[in-house]
Amino acid sequence: MELLSNAPTGPIEKSWETHKFGLKLVNPANKRKFKIIVVGSGLAGGAAAASLGELGYNVHCFCFQDSPRRAHSIAAQGGINAAKNYHNDGDSVYRLFYDTVKGGDFRAREANVYRLAQVSVNIIDQCVAQGVPFAREYGGLLDNRSFGGAQVSRTFYARGQTGQQLLLGAYQALERQIGLGAVQMYPRTEMLDVIVIDGKARGIVTRNLNDGKVDVHLGDAVVLATGGYGNVFYLSTNAKGCNATAIWRAYKRGALFANPCYTQIHPTCIPVAGEYQSKLTLMSESLRNDGRIWVPKQAGDKRNPASIPEGERDYYLERRYPSFGNLVPRDIASRAAKAECDAGRGVGETGLGVYLDFSDCIKRLGAHKIAERYGNLFEMYERITGENPYEVPMRIYPASHYTMGGLWVDYNLMSTIPGLFVLGEANFSDHGANRLGASALMQGLADGYFVIPYTIGNYLANTKSEKYSEDAVAAKEAVANVTAITKKLLNANGKRTVDSYHRELGKIVWEYCGMARNATGLTKAAGLIAELREDFWKNVRVLGANEEFNQSLEKAGRVADFFELGELMCIDALNRNESCGGHFREEYQTPEGEALRDDANYSYVSAWGFQGEGRPASLTKEPLAFNYVKPSQRSYK
Ligand SMILES: Cc1cc2nc3c(=O)[nH]c(=O)nc-3n(C[C@H](O)[C@H](O)[C@H](O)COP(=O)(O)OP(=O)(O)OC[C@H]3O[C@@H](n4cnc5c(N)ncnc54)[C@H](O)[C@@H]3O)c2cc1C
Repeated sequence: MELLSNAPTGPIEKSWETHKFGLKLVNPANKRKFKIIVVGSGLAGGAAAASLGELGYNVHCFCFQDSPRRAHSIAAQGGINAAKNYHNDGDSVYRLFYDTVKGGDFRAREANVYRLAQVSVNIIDQCVAQGVPFAREYGGLLDNRSFGGAQVSRTFYARGQTGQQLLLGAYQALERQIGLGAVQMYPRTEMLDVIVIDGKARGIVTRNLNDGKVDVHLGDAVVLATGGYGNVFYLSTNAKGCNATAIWRAYKRGALFANPCYTQIHPTCIPVAGEYQSKLTLMSESLRNDGRIWVPKQAGDKRNPASIPEGERDYYLERRYPSFGNLVPRDIASRAAKAECDAGRGVGETGLGVYLDFSDCIKRLGAHKIAERYGNLFEMYERITGENPYEVPMRIYPASHYTMGGLWVDYNLMSTIPGLFVLGEANFSDHGANRLGASALMQGLADGYFVIPYTIGNYLANTKSEKYSEDAVAAKEAVANVTAITKKLLNANGKRTVDSYHRELGKIVWEYCGMARNATGLTKAAGLIAELREDFWKNVRVLGANEEFNQSLEKAGRVADFFELGELMCIDALNRNESCGGHFREEYQTPEGEALRDDANYSYVSAWGFQGEGRPASLTKEPLAFNYVKPSQRSYK
């Protein structure tokens, strides 16, 4: 199979404009005749459903929460990037493009990244028009701060609640369309399969989470905006409900899965406190604007941080990376923290922690200024740890946070199944092997507000609108598949809880396919996961029945998919005999311990195809060309 990216050629500055002009349009009077299924109503799906409804399409939108407002996007804290150059500090579309390609360690598609940087400026205008209360400077202008991997201030924010405010904007736009009858919303409805008829995505199968009813929804195109798979690690900063089921079931219907091993471990999270903890809490990257990261110079130094004198502290990021200091990208900051802890200089009871210290900036700016910038984050930290970060340094440690991998999409955001589009964190595009902070919100909203409204029209205009019935063979087969999985889970009748399996799976993936990987560990992990998966199907105990609100059943299906995905992550990581971004293979590193790429052999996207149960996935490669930003050893020194 050849993967056609459909990325335009010619001058990159004009490529999106030229491409858009070449796209076929759907006559306004015909739009309502097309039914578009949007799965997901977070920032990517909510923006898409609202925009497609506004354009006049007949949109049906699904989410598993009780309201679109509860999508995981609401948790985003720190901000959203845009190349507005309000600070006049040298930012530009080109610089955002350059920083993103470099930040992703030269493993993203240039044309997509350039488009993202271009439309970033429109996103801010759109959100301001919706009333999103971005932070403002004293004079009333929008304020900016800095995020990792950039030397300019281009991050727009609303205290530590940027995702919440952006989602409220998208939600209001969506509600307006629901009110107008353009969008029909299906909350508490989980998509469990894609219906593919004559090679095209024509619908989905869902389960009503209140009463277990399985339904078929047919349409002219399906859009998946179902978020990332960071919860494969069990402990992560993601909301507990985040899962990979939608994209995984689409993979099993023929959509290729790209770069599953590219996962992001965020450097600043509250450290794990105990065996039965079920989730981890992020302390936003924005804190690294003002907080300084350090460990005691002496291994095993257990003194109270206040009694460790300045000369006995190692501000290791400032020392190792003087140009970017505490604002190096996440992959680099995470690995550096791990190295300090591995060398015995970690702090806190477990030794798996480093300090994030605000004392200098509190002295310089005053506690009130820090409260203005990060008040809610400080409060959250104190509630969780019982320590006051205005008085003692925060303790932080890396944790699973974001997934750069996802379903493969072309420049039009269409997967390898015609008519199946994938947006936001659910697709693989734009971030390469490492995402820069504040770029996920930018990508989700770019995809939803500014890309899909154009590209889906081109697909629909080129596709005959066939009307299928629920009796179509493919629809019946998909329903039978969903029903069979549910029955199998409920009938296992074993002794172990779903959570205990998930926790064990997460530990394997974290240990062998987390911040550092090697061939021996990855091979071992793939075997361990396969064994545990087999045991899961024999010994899991799922309480209750299908015909009721049953969270144990919901979780079981999602964990079953995480098992298969976890194994594919290890296979992908094993295949990539190089280090790049968040994929750090211990065998491939520079003398200073940085990721060592192998551009001659691995400058490609790995796209994996399902070949049937028990058979190895196939690998198709999309070669990456760099005509603008020449790949080099990434340096933040
Ligand atoms: C704690 C935290 C803080 C963050 N802070 C920032 C930040 O400051 N800046 C930044 O750029 N990024 C940040 N991120 C990343 C960013 O929040 C996410 O990448 C982004 O919000 C994902 O948006 P999405 O629309 O793709 O998915 P989501 O918001 O996860 O939405 C997924 C939607 O899909 C639905 N869904 C999923 N599966 C199914 C199914 N099978 N059937 C039906 N519906 C389904 C869900 O109900 C939901 O509506 C942060 C992430 C975390 C974890």
